[in-house]
Amino acid sequence: MRRGITAEIDLDAALKNLELLREAVKGLPVIAVVKADAYGHGAAELARLYEDAEVHALAVAFVPEAEELREAGIKAPILVLFDNTEHEKYLKLNLTPVIHDMKAAEAFSLEAEKKGVVLDVHIKVDTGMGRVGFNDEKEILQVLDLKNLNVVGLMSHLSEADLADMEFVDLQLKRFNGIKQSLHKKGLKPMCHIANSAAVLACPDAHLDAVRPGLALYGISPFAGEDRRIPALRPMMRAKARILTVRRLKADTPVSYSRTFITKRPTLAAALAVGYADGYNRLFSNSASVLIKGKRAPVIGRVCMDLTMADVTDIGEVSERDEAVLLGRDGDESITALELAEKASTIPYEILLSFGKNARRLYSRIPLTGEHPV
Ligand SMILES: *Cc1c(COP(=O)(O)O)cnc(C)c1O
Repeated sequence: MRRGITAEIDLDAALKNLELLREAVKGLPVIAVVKADAYGHGAAELARLYEDAEVHALAVAFVPEAEELREAGIKAPILVLFDNTEHEKYLKLNLTPVIHDMKAAEAFSLEAEKKGVVLDVHIKVDTGMGRVGFNDEKEILQVLDLKNLNVVGLMSHLSEADLADMEFVDLQLKRFNGIKQSLHKKGLKPMCHIANSAAVLACPDAHLDAVRPGLALYGISPFAGEDRRIPALRPMMRAKARILTVRRLKADTPVSYSRTFITKRPTLAAALAVGYADGYNRLFSNSASVLIKGKRAPVIGRVCMDLTMADVTDIGEVSERDEAVLLGRDGDESITALELAEKASTIPYEILLSFGKNARRLYSRIPLTGEHPV
């Protein structure tokens, strides 16, 4: 029996989501973020789709991710968001670095000089995220003096564009625009970009020259509140697991490790061939549900390494031939990434990643289950 998660990836939804985001930014260039294996959806497959859809560029976090895309035959420009090492690979693989500090700028310039070329780079400004990037405007201007670098982009990252209160977004934008103005005064007009998914959807002021959505491309709203859902986005991932066996348990039977669940009634219990070894979070113990035959079945007892128990008493006839939907739609019911994220005290990003990373992925252009709410 195949253990773990099978993830159905709906490429048709991917294209629709891209279209929707393009409309939201009135056709501005899109830098499609496919870091972390395209948030668990498969970087090579998604990169190919975005390349065909003529996005401006792809973005990954580290050089080996870009290397995998080049090995998969991706020719589109690739922006590497965080990696200021392996300078020679940038030239060899035609990658675009995001430069964080003067030391990195000098190293990239030296490498380009050795090869007798000029390397296109983007500069990262830290406007309030406090992770990486230039703080000092004077230093940024010094980068312009490096003969073998051509500054084609200026970027920053927003820390809380998902909140209703835009005060900090506005402050970050103000700092960013200040740097942009100084570059303009020097006659330099790099492509400016700062917007992640939340800013694409909620802050038109942050759209600037290009946008860098990730999560929203995969059909998930970056907003936690019900009132700020984006109904037209379509989640791309639907995750399923196999049913190993279905058993009748008497009332007062403990289920799984540590007896955290004891049946209150005669119970039909399904053992699912999925556990935390497969990325099904242990915090789903006694809290999440799965969908079987379009109905909710609560997870009972602790999620184990290889098995998870579900109460299927109210579902009717259930057999090993049925499957359990862990994420996504089944009939009229659906389980969202946000619902699971809340059970596991995390955010939808981590749910997609932990499911997608270990899953067998099946790709389909046909919408697998019709319309999905976010
Ligand atoms: C991950 C990332 C994004 C995309 O963020 P989403 O919230 O997924 O849209 C954009 N820019 C940078 C620098 C990132 O690291």
